Amino acid sequence: MNNRHTLRKRLLRLEGRGFKSYSEICGDWEFDDGDIRFRFIIDHVQADPFAEPSHVRAILPAEVAGFPTRSWKTAHRRRALCTWLARRFFDACQSRARSRGSGKSGVVDIDRPGQQILDRTCMLIREGVVEARFRVGLPASGRRILSAEAVHLLCDFVPELVSRSLRFHANDAQAIDTVCNACEDAVHLRQQLHARGLVAFIGDGSVLPRHSGEDDRPMLDDNAVPFVSPKELRVELETPNASSVSGMGIPRGVTVIVGGGFHGKSTLLDAVEKGVYDHLSGDGRERVVSDASAVKIRAEDGRRTEGVDVSDFIGDLPMRKDTRFFCTDDASGSTSQAANIVEAMETGCQLLLIDEDTAATNFMIRDARMQQLIAREHEPITPLVDRVRQLYEERDISTLLVMGGSGDYFDVADNVIAMGNYRPTDVTAEAHCIARKNVNGREPEGVTPLSTSVPRVPLPASIDCRRGRREVSVKARGRTRIEIGHESIDLSAVDQLVDDGQTRAIAAALVYLRQHYLDGKSDIVTLLDQISADVEAEGLDVLSPFPTGDCAGFRRHELACALNRLRTLQLRTHNQQPGLR
Ligand code: ADP
Ligand code: MG
Repeated sequence: MNNRHTLRKRLLRLEGRGFKSYSEICGDWEFDDGDIRFRFIIDHVQADPFAEPSHVRAILPAEVAGFPTRSWKTAHRRRALCTWLARRFFDACQSRARSRGSGKSGVVDIDRPGQQILDRTCMLIREGVVEARFRVGLPASGRRILSAEAVHLLCDFVPELVSRSLRFHANDAQAIDTVCNACEDAVHLRQQLHARGLVAFIGDGSVLPRHSGEDDRPMLDDNAVPFVSPKELRVELETPNASSVSGMGIPRGVTVIVGGGFHGKSTLLDAVEKGVYDHLSGDGRERVVSDASAVKIRAEDGRRTEGVDVSDFIGDLPMRKDTRFFCTDDASGSTSQAANIVEAMETGCQLLLIDEDTAATNFMIRDARMQQLIAREHEPITPLVDRVRQLYEERDISTLLVMGGSGDYFDVADNVIAMGNYRPTDVTAEAHCIARKNVNGREPEGVTPLSTSVPRVPLPASIDCRRGRREVSVKARGRTRIEIGHESIDLSAVDQLVDDGQTRAIAAALVYLRQHYLDGKSDIVTLLDQISADVEAEGLDVLSPFPTGDCAGFRRHELACALNRLRTLQLRTHNQQPGLR
């Protein structure tokens, strides 16, 4: 029988032996001390004290964990509860003083969720059974096993940690309810957007600004100006837990946010951008929701593009480059922004979010004077201002953009919102009146209909996961980089990636895609559908060959971003054979 007592005995026998002997404790241990009962599984033992800590799991039966059905009965409440528990567990890990020893000896650590409520592999609840996946640094002195420390860590601290953080009775029931309710309400708010003709909603009283540019927690209460909706755009939406909630509804169509510098324009757009996710209660953005398919678009010069039809925005380029199958290793600001839009459309985006701070000016506007100086035939770019209405009218794709620097968008905007001292006002009528009185004299440039999209089919050989003798070599480096085979994918301009765990999951998804679905016939949309369906059905675990505790839920849009930025990617469309560039 493998229990806590036998684990202790086994560990004591290992005293002073070489670190590799720790492999003898791999396996399934039944911890039962009356008070707390759970399975303790040691999945993987680190190679040495300096390597990544060992992977372990604690699985509590439903009756021991004791969470009321209400807290996990729906997927959304479950996601919220797991996020909460992972944070509790993380905090409890921090309370432990580091034991002595070399390298990572004595470290106990779990993937810590940020402000967003994402599915996570570090904490799972199935029918009330709680599973936590975490890491422990097995204690050693040099490379010799310190068994007394190991006993203390695994046989004493772990049960205490599990008991303190993974049982309902040790938790604050009220706080759990609040987190679950907030998440469920956000999902409901988001679900109402479409029927109400909205693309985003910002609840009154929301706190949008963040602690700092590097800290996603809310700005301190005393400094933050809470959000107040302008009456013209105020709507009331229903929630299951807080009855009706009022706030600003951003209607479908083209909406422009204007206002002086430093008056909160980008902060508002940022909140909408993150509104594709649900937030922890207390974040300030619990009631900020946007269309789940919203994609932040920005200029990203230097990125690679492969076979993107940017011809709606970019016409004849020097060297007669084909802009219907646009390939470059070094896109410019404007061509990268065009590719970002077209790729977002491919993944089903219904709301484009653009901030002038990170946009290419020549992609956004081209005023009357410039039209006179540089003739149309010398300017390949059709600026967005000439296409943005078409995107809405022909494709039902709305745009929300921050544009404090040019009034040319007044003509094409359905709504104009001014931010002043962090307060929005509806200035649509005034902006339209100004546009009528001061005709800007521009020649409209987007006269042709939008081109129809053609399926893009990735070629399997162009995604190579091998490196040296390893069949699969893939690693996420923080939030913004994936190393796959010999390639490195730069995701630093993908603003809606919010968590390192998402990047790790996307890295795993690329390998999964390569191994299961890439066949040289399926187009990108089909591939994304297949992966989404598998993750939906079986959870994120489907992406890895063994249980991992460090992945977080991601959207198809960000997975597509990674694929599209892989520098070796090659594809064909039905129009174009590879090699014809
Ligand atoms: P803009 O894009 O209009 O130039 P930003 O959105 O970048 O302005 O905001 C400028 C500064 O104001 C930022 O430091 C931001 O944190 C802060 N800020 C934004 N909204 C609020 C608010 N509601 N209350 C307090 N400070 C805010
Ligand atoms: Mg700004």
